[in-house]
Amino acid sequence: MAPYAAPQHQVDIDSHRPIMSLSTPPRNCGDHASTYHWDTIREFADPTERVKKLVFTQSDCVAESTLYGSRSYEEHTIVCCSTMSGCPIGCRFCGSGDFFIRKLSASEIVSQAQYILENCIDGIDPTCIQKLDIRVMSMGEPLLNTSLWQAFHYLHALYPHATLQISTSAPDIDWSWVLDMSVAIPSVALQFSVHESTNQARDALIPFKRKLSLEGIADIGIAWHRTTGRRPSFNYCAHGCNVDQADADRLTGLFPPAIWDATVSVICERNEFQRAHNQHQHILALDFSSKLASRGFKVRIENPPAVETIGGGCGQLWFVQEWMRAHPSLVRRSVGNSLPARHPSPSRSVQSAADLCV
Ligand code: SF4
Repeated sequence: MAPYAAPQHQVDIDSHRPIMSLSTPPRNCGDHASTYHWDTIREFADPTERVKKLVFTQSDCVAESTLYGSRSYEEHTIVCCSTMSGCPIGCRFCGSGDFFIRKLSASEIVSQAQYILENCIDGIDPTCIQKLDIRVMSMGEPLLNTSLWQAFHYLHALYPHATLQISTSAPDIDWSWVLDMSVAIPSVALQFSVHESTNQARDALIPFKRKLSLEGIADIGIAWHRTTGRRPSFNYCAHGCNVDQADADRLTGLFPPAIWDATVSVICERNEFQRAHNQHQHILALDFSSKLASRGFKVRIENPPAVETIGGGCGQLWFVQEWMRAHPSLVRRSVGNSLPARHPSPSRSVQSAADLCV
């Protein structure tokens, strides 16, 4: 196959004019990062796992994206993009959960996926990828940033065969724009980061107060299903204290498998350069997946690769944490800051599943 030639100009989604002709002149950073509206773009690769981390910076913000390829990029490519720099939600398992900087513009969101698909997939024409998923789940709560609609509008125009997946912690917002966007763009998929089966446990994990309860998520998911005709999904991070039969029963009561699909995620450690506790957590995820499957769910297991080499999990965000430490004057504390991190460090001695409960 002939190598893919990137277009000469990237288009600004607000005006559909080339980015290079915007009123703000591009910064000269000595490479072609400015073409994509960034000062610097750094790439970290784990070639054995076919995973790449891309770190995009400007003077006032950082974004991180992750590229996953399956056996080949042509077969299945996943790009996870940031919608914010930092995040105000404060999830206690997340590498960006302690600090918030600002929302990203539509151009800044689009340019992450555009850069990756034009420069990082071995010269393949992205339109030839058989299964392409562009997910807004690297950093930031996407539904607290209404620029997402513009970003999706343009991504859909660029890559009409791509699934555009929203992964949300379900803030308590006016969801009408999300429903409208999901109707206007038929490739939008919706996944809720549920992660726990009770509101009390979920509040401890996700301290942001203005969010929907589990019951509220169930209602919005059904409304989205009725409006779009598509199936919502929920994501559940399995750990030693939330994988009982009772947890599976509660989830089944809230999210009937006739409407909902399930994703069970293997937890990634947020702390950099600590050996992930991956094998034990993988077993927990497998076990809980079978509990959900036996209740009628179609279950997908998310076990991100390269978690120990480059922080391959979306929420690990090692390079974001590094940037935030270097720019303390630009970051604001999130509601989760100073609350204990959840899912303990693997450096602790773990004797049983109970040791993993915080
Ligand atoms: S997991 Fe997502 S919503 Fe939660 S703090 Fe991290 S980026 Fe924000």
